[in-house]
Amino acid sequence: MTTTTTDRYARSKELFAAAQEVIPGGVNSPVRAFRGVGGSPIFFARGTGSHVEDVDGNNYIDYVLSWGPLLLGHSHPAVIQAVNEQLTRGSSFGAPTELETELAKLVINLIPSVEQVRFVSSGTEATMSALRLARAYTKREKIVKFVGCYHGHADMLLVQAGSGVITLGLPDSPGVPAATASDTLTVEYNDVAGVTEIFRQYGEQIAAVIVEPIAANMGFVVPEPGFLQTLRELTTANGALLIIDEVMTGFRAAPGGAQVHWGVEPDLTCLGKVIGGGLPVGAYAGKKAIMQTVAPAGPMYQAGTLSGNPLAMAAGIAMLRTAFEAPEGETTLFERAVARTQNLADGIRSLSEETGVPLQVGNIGTMFGFYFLKEPGVKVRSYAEAKEYVDAARYSKFFWAMCERGVYMAPSQFEAGFLSSAHDSVDIAVTLTACREAFLAAR
Ligand code: PLP
Repeated sequence: MTTTTTDRYARSKELFAAAQEVIPGGVNSPVRAFRGVGGSPIFFARGTGSHVEDVDGNNYIDYVLSWGPLLLGHSHPAVIQAVNEQLTRGSSFGAPTELETELAKLVINLIPSVEQVRFVSSGTEATMSALRLARAYTKREKIVKFVGCYHGHADMLLVQAGSGVITLGLPDSPGVPAATASDTLTVEYNDVAGVTEIFRQYGEQIAAVIVEPIAANMGFVVPEPGFLQTLRELTTANGALLIIDEVMTGFRAAPGGAQVHWGVEPDLTCLGKVIGGGLPVGAYAGKKAIMQTVAPAGPMYQAGTLSGNPLAMAAGIAMLRTAFEAPEGETTLFERAVARTQNLADGIRSLSEETGVPLQVGNIGTMFGFYFLKEPGVKVRSYAEAKEYVDAARYSKFFWAMCERGVYMAPSQFEAGFLSSAHDSVDIAVTLTACREAFLAAR
């Protein structure tokens, strides 16, 4: 008897080979190349609800969700309808529409620290512009960021950054001028003594501290009690601004973002992902007194041909309304997704005990993450500790074992996972069964 083995990723591999001819590395964002797990990236054809289908016809429960934006899952009817209706009216005018005010009001209602919002087209633009604003407002130049936090790819933020930069093992990026990098002061996440010392030395020169309120671009690292409060106190005492980068955590950690979850009020907030409903968007937002520095209200220049794009605004409005509005006494779709996230994370914790595979599991709101640890009992609170304690080789085995079982998780251990309101109890049960087998396969 002859057996034929078919490659379940054959078409993806063909497409990747073709893409590499015309696109550097075959991808338009490095982490998509699967360097963190080895092998060839999977090309997707379509997504519905909690599921995606690849170009070879394999189906997966999706925990990447385009790296966070799809809070309602793929192709939610409310988002499709909103975008279709707007498309028939016009895709872009380069002039104001009432959609921008409507989405700004939704954001202001959800995030208590926000009084005004400026929309841009990506999270990178949001953080880049927020820092320009902080520098313009304080008339200072230095900024503080944390090792392993990723805030997009603007020059001054690509210093000891997380996400794909960690996955590729790059310390910093060539092309970033030394003079620019020298104004970025870095310190390990959760290092209260380190950041206090930086303020002791440079306090009068620091325009802002920018921080991920859950460090989810180096896995899933939560702030230790008091860490964010210390940042708030140091910035206030030294006349610097606190910028909380909620591009990933916004509308995911809690309706008002991780800042509400942790009870810390920033001066500026960066947003992206969810507010675009799956279309390109970003925003920076905060106190009116500071936001009034932005042109044309004030002198700090920032602009964009597609900023506040009507399709993205329509998708964002539909996404936020559908996720957070429910008739009195009924659970919102967001709350439903939070409950499923808890079920998944609790299930993974139990499996860690059952299979004897040491894991550090975290979950807040609709986000989760876990590290394979080299030994039980250690705790990762910073990128330095992640490098020391995380068993990255195990993750790639686990990742591919999960793909074979129809579950798509982030193709790097240094990224968080996301759920949507479309993930149901069957998805969680299937995922946990796959996890049990994949943990054993990765032992
Ligand atoms: N800030 C954070 C916390 C992010 O996670 C990301 C992207 O993953 C960004 C900023 C950059 O956003 P974008 O990829 O839309 O430029």
